[in-house]
Amino acid sequence: MSDHKLCPIAALLSAAEKADHPAAIGAFNVNFYSQAAGVLKGLRRSDAPAIIQASRGANRFQGGPDKIAYMLGRAMEQSNHRLPVGLHLDHGDPEKGEECADSGYTGIMIDASEEPFPENCAITRGMVAYAHPRGVGVEGEYGQLLGVEDDVHAEKTVYADPEKVAAFFEKTNADALAIAYGTSHGPNKGANIAQLKTEVVRDSYRNMADAGLTDNHFLVGHGSSTIPQDIVAEINQCGGDIRGAQGVPMEKIKEGIAFGLRKINIDTDLRLVITATARRFFVDNPSAAGCETLRGVKEALDAKLDVIDPREYLGSVTPFELLREPPDGPGVQEFVDLMALMEERIAQHVAFLVEAFGSAGLASSVEDVTVEDMKQRYARSDPW
Ligand SMILES: [Zn+2]
Repeated sequence: MSDHKLCPIAALLSAAEKADHPAAIGAFNVNFYSQAAGVLKGLRRSDAPAIIQASRGANRFQGGPDKIAYMLGRAMEQSNHRLPVGLHLDHGDPEKGEECADSGYTGIMIDASEEPFPENCAITRGMVAYAHPRGVGVEGEYGQLLGVEDDVHAEKTVYADPEKVAAFFEKTNADALAIAYGTSHGPNKGANIAQLKTEVVRDSYRNMADAGLTDNHFLVGHGSSTIPQDIVAEINQCGGDIRGAQGVPMEKIKEGIAFGLRKINIDTDLRLVITATARRFFVDNPSAAGCETLRGVKEALDAKLDVIDPREYLGSVTPFELLREPPDGPGVQEFVDLMALMEERIAQHVAFLVEAFGSAGLASSVEDVTVEDMKQRYARSDPW
């Protein structure tokens, strides 16, 4: 296990807030070892701090939060990663949140956004009351995002009310808050682009600033994948069939960052990059489809042409995906080659994104604090 300590999310988001240019920390969802390794590689190229996050689905896929924490620790150790990285639960509930807070995560997202505002505040505050004494930060969610992502789905956009954002922080002392401003989960954001209201971000941040909250409380943008059209085209050229995929224009994300977003969540983009790499690999290496380790992957890709979630086709290679130990046996070299290609393509996209988000070069401005230090700070700042 790496002795490199994972970074509290508040320290990461604070570095973005204090930057001399508009900046947000990239938060990248991961499901398997090479995905994490690829994100880390991209971060090193850009000298960027970041948050690695795992949904409840990712935790199930790997067998629990402790496995995800181990996987990230191993990926950092293997690559001698020395830049600040946090580990965060994405869209958690209280039960999974407590488990992650006890498993080495440095941030927990508690999503009670389906509840009325007072109940949402109460549930989030309950998570804060559990996590902060352990030095772990908390992100809440207010408003609802259209679309589907793992266990989360909504039929329509419910915008956050900027007038209530400061109150949410005051009632909960959460570190971060995802506010719905018209982005959506999943690959089909097209219909929703016309509904993007970055002024929700602007007005929320202004109200936070008026209340003196912006030093320790941060706004988050979910559903922010850009859905690169060249990647979608590559998937379709290599046997896939993905239609209508459209992301959030980068200029809109940059506008949101200029208005006060400090954490930008990216999941779908990486799924697309991984899927394009897999489909391309089988076109370029037809014999790999017959090898023992990858046969199930190819069959799963052939069976579902619109698949973009790597868990749906990589599940057959478990337990290799973790690379807890170097695998051996027939067909392993092809698997290792595919994973290396995925790492590289993920790294390229992550480097591009953190440059655009303004967090490239910010690694050295992240305060060197530990979860232990945060226990003291939270004990002073929590109002109960
Ligand atoms: Zn989300």
